[in-house]
Amino acid sequence: MIGIINGEVYDPQNGINGEVRDIWIEDGKIASPPELGGTEGGQIIDASGLVVMPGGVDIHSHIVGAKVNSGRKLCPEDHRDHVRSRTAATRSGSGYTVPSTFMTGYGYAEMGYTTVMEAATAPLVARHTHEELEDTPILDTGVFITMGNNHFIMNCIRDGQREKARDYVAWLLEATKGYAIKIVNPGGVENWKWGRNVSELDDEVIGFGVTPRQIITTLAWINDELGLPHLPHIHGINLGQPGNARTTVETIKALEGRRAHFCHLQFLSYGGEPGKRMRSGAAEVARAVNEHPNVTIDVGQVIFGPATTMTSDGPLQYRLHKLTGNKWLNDDVEAETGGGVVPMLYKRKNPFNAVQWLTGMELFLLIDDPWRVFLTTDHPNAGPFFFYPQIIKLLMDRDYRAEMSEGLNRRARKGALLPDLDREYSLYEIAIITRAGTARALGLQNKGHLGVGADADITIYRQQDDKEAMFAKPYLVLKDGQVVVRDGSVVREHQGRTLYVAPPYDPGIEADLRAHFEECYTISFDNYPVAPEYLSRSEVIPCL
Ligand SMILES: [Zn+2]
Repeated sequence: MIGIINGEVYDPQNGINGEVRDIWIEDGKIASPPELGGTEGGQIIDASGLVVMPGGVDIHSHIVGAKVNSGRKLCPEDHRDHVRSRTAATRSGSGYTVPSTFMTGYGYAEMGYTTVMEAATAPLVARHTHEELEDTPILDTGVFITMGNNHFIMNCIRDGQREKARDYVAWLLEATKGYAIKIVNPGGVENWKWGRNVSELDDEVIGFGVTPRQIITTLAWINDELGLPHLPHIHGINLGQPGNARTTVETIKALEGRRAHFCHLQFLSYGGEPGKRMRSGAAEVARAVNEHPNVTIDVGQVIFGPATTMTSDGPLQYRLHKLTGNKWLNDDVEAETGGGVVPMLYKRKNPFNAVQWLTGMELFLLIDDPWRVFLTTDHPNAGPFFFYPQIIKLLMDRDYRAEMSEGLNRRARKGALLPDLDREYSLYEIAIITRAGTARALGLQNKGHLGVGADADITIYRQQDDKEAMFAKPYLVLKDGQVVVRDGSVVREHQGRTLYVAPPYDPGIEADLRAHFEECYTISFDNYPVAPEYLSRSEVIPCL
């Protein structure tokens, strides 16, 4: 047995706000306190004066798979000056905005995170994603499967066969060993294959006669029907476009009360008009989020400096390439989705980037309920994940925020709401937006808290006034009850698990699918599912 004693514990799921408590661990799980004298032979960690939280849980990050690997290949300059040498405990690696698998696992663990969700994988290339997850140390992970432009689903919607779409989604999640339904620019990625996009919820998807609204509401219905632990994870239409706050609010309303998660909402919360000067639309979007308790969001905060954008949103990537002149990679995934990669440099003095930064900060501060707004940078789209401690400092320290704002493009600052927002996050609220809230939204009952039976994923920080320094370098990180990080460095390799769902479905669907594969795919139906051998360490998370 291991005891972490006298720590100042932040465990919002169990209502514990900085009280001094002892945490006990047995067989990799949080355990009840031992009987008197029952700790003999055990290990005691004295956490007096230290802050104890559950391990961090990232709800949206791009860390592995075909698209991430394309980002690595497209940007050799991202690797040149960023290398990590082998140590007795760790492997070598390279990469800054798109690190190699080992560096990704170590980097997250060294920041106190123990669970990270890979935010987008096309079903057809899920095998690649799982191969890289096998190579990503320490972290527990899950994979969101892109379905918002899937031909089989759009055919079902057009033909009024939503039960058939439901059985297909259940089959697909099991076949890809996926964790959640991901929707990216519904209909727009398909239209991009014809050089077009969608800009309104009721635009038509070429060749299918369905609309973005129908795709979103059908998948939200399916998510509820299957009782999936997470929510439909939505990247809406018009990402990055001035004026998109309006269509984002319309999308929230289109759900008519069904639960959903909206990712990297900063990129979807702009005011102004298409083609004109952009301003923050955070107030309008935050109001809609506050009024709709069925909705959770993550921010996708911009970090000034280099980033690599990578998304299934093919038309967006073409637009970014045209705007920046940066190199560009475009991709098509047959019958399922598309995508692209464009490297970026976010600059304080660039009016567009400055508005993006302000928009993200305002969303954090204007959305009232910390259980519904989560910390992300949409890594590596808005910036690398290892800048999370900087964001924590910005949220906890309004003077630091004012100092950062000072350096922004002047025109972008004009009329901005941020200077009037005095709110400062507490440690308790930080624990919500980085672990308790994300675990709850993901439906991970054993994560994000320190109650008996939870996974013993624990981070212990030294109290420091500088919150960036405090969160950048934890004193200890435990994964499954074992110390893996000490003083901000990995001291021990540990292999995490891949979390996936296996909802039941009518096996009659397979006959239809076999015919669909014959007609539409270059890969045979029998070769499509990810074989169990690809997941040597996994855990099925039950549906509700
Ligand atoms: Zn993303």
